[in-house]
Amino acid sequence: MFTDMMTPTLRLGVTGLSRAGKTIFITALIRNLVSGGRLPFFLPEAEGRIERAYLEPQPDDAVPRFDYEGHLAALSRDPPDWPESTRRLSQLRVTIEYRSESALRRAFGISRLHLDVVDYPGEWLIDLPLLNMSYDAWCAEAVAQATAPRRQAHSTAWRTFLETANPNAPQDEQIALRGAQLFGDYLRAARADDHVLHTTGPGRFLLPGDLEGSPLLTFCPLALGDARYGRGSLAAMMARRFESYKSHVVKPFFRDHFSRLDRQIVLVDVLGPLNEGGDAIVDLERALEAVLSVFRTGSANWFSALFTRRIDKLLFAATKADHIHSSSHDRLEAILRVITDRAMGRAAETGAEVGVQALAALRATREAEAKVDGELLPCIVGVPMPGERIAGKVFDGRAQAAVFPGDLPANPRDALKRDAAPAGLHFVRFRPPRLLPPGGDGESPPLPNIRLDRALDFLLSDWLA
Ligand code: GDP
Repeated sequence: MFTDMMTPTLRLGVTGLSRAGKTIFITALIRNLVSGGRLPFFLPEAEGRIERAYLEPQPDDAVPRFDYEGHLAALSRDPPDWPESTRRLSQLRVTIEYRSESALRRAFGISRLHLDVVDYPGEWLIDLPLLNMSYDAWCAEAVAQATAPRRQAHSTAWRTFLETANPNAPQDEQIALRGAQLFGDYLRAARADDHVLHTTGPGRFLLPGDLEGSPLLTFCPLALGDARYGRGSLAAMMARRFESYKSHVVKPFFRDHFSRLDRQIVLVDVLGPLNEGGDAIVDLERALEAVLSVFRTGSANWFSALFTRRIDKLLFAATKADHIHSSSHDRLEAILRVITDRAMGRAAETGAEVGVQALAALRATREAEAKVDGELLPCIVGVPMPGERIAGKVFDGRAQAAVFPGDLPANPRDALKRDAAPAGLHFVRFRPPRLLPPGGDGESPPLPNIRLDRALDFLLSDWLA
């Protein structure tokens, strides 16, 4: 194994809020690497220096493997289907063999790089601030949030529970179970209504991963007010479990996974909230602010004291760019830049090189022009998912449609105004593209994408120099 010890490992984190596009991004990234996809802006590939890339057993036995083959199988069905989304942390190793740019290194033969791709829910990052928060402070914040206008309806049952749950009553497992269940139900319902829900977490109540049903999640905030609670009380029990959650769930995640990442891509579905208009974009910003606080050096110095941090490149990517015409791709990038600038705080120092891109890891549409009232409009053509509606017509998942998705505004700030109507924007979900059968050489053609090569170039090229 001497040679393997010499092979460097690059750990790439892929995160984003639920349904941002993590599963698709990783599946497409791996497929393009291992099948030698056409990636003209990924320099090592464009220069023909990549000899081959292949999957290897991932080195961490305790971590689930990313189900690459299962996801490809879903995409290969007839008709093709989107695979299941990320629900927990998983990992996959791709080994890349390449010829170095350096004559000296070339003299030693082919170089190798292990790329460990780590997929994890962005929701788990919102737990970081909990490490610095007492149970009492968390209760105050969570109770206040539950009464916010957009959540009131979802939190009614939990707030009724709070009225009866006396913090000073003797500790009681059944009450704790009931409170945790109602609190979890409320967070998940609010989230289902609003994908970019901003919350103080805990992140595992939204996406429990392997902790589904675990006693580590049997706690919830209580309406403490000014109450002082003593030993053996319900509140003391909840506070103890809150601390256990931090030490057994939050800290290990940051220590064993997050702080070992070298590079990070954060995927953001900007188009969904833009489509909804109004508060949705403001919510997205707030949710990202919570998620991204972990990348800020200034406000999270105590984080650096707890864990070493080594991410030196951070890429924000607006996903699903195949929902708009290519003439709007730069605009989508500009909108994401404004959102992330604000979410990170203008003056924030990340200590990392930050990039912003729009991409579609798996392109489900093609472009066309349609003549409407004598005017040529740039359209996208694809197969809308069953049940999608366009101008009153309900699609069956097989018929093609040409859609004029609308233009994104030239000034990104116009798109982000709270009262911005989703003027003229119209996005529908499309079926994934049909995977083409293997060619004469037995190799399957790579997956179509938009700007995936630029993302790979930003994230990987210097390690393949
Ligand atoms: P995750 O929760 O972050 O893992 O999200 P997924 O990768 O499962 O993506 C969620 C959904 O977004 C998919 O089921 C697709 O409908 C859609 N999606 C993701 N990436 C793309 C893309 O590149 N193009 C298109 N058209 N849709 C995408």
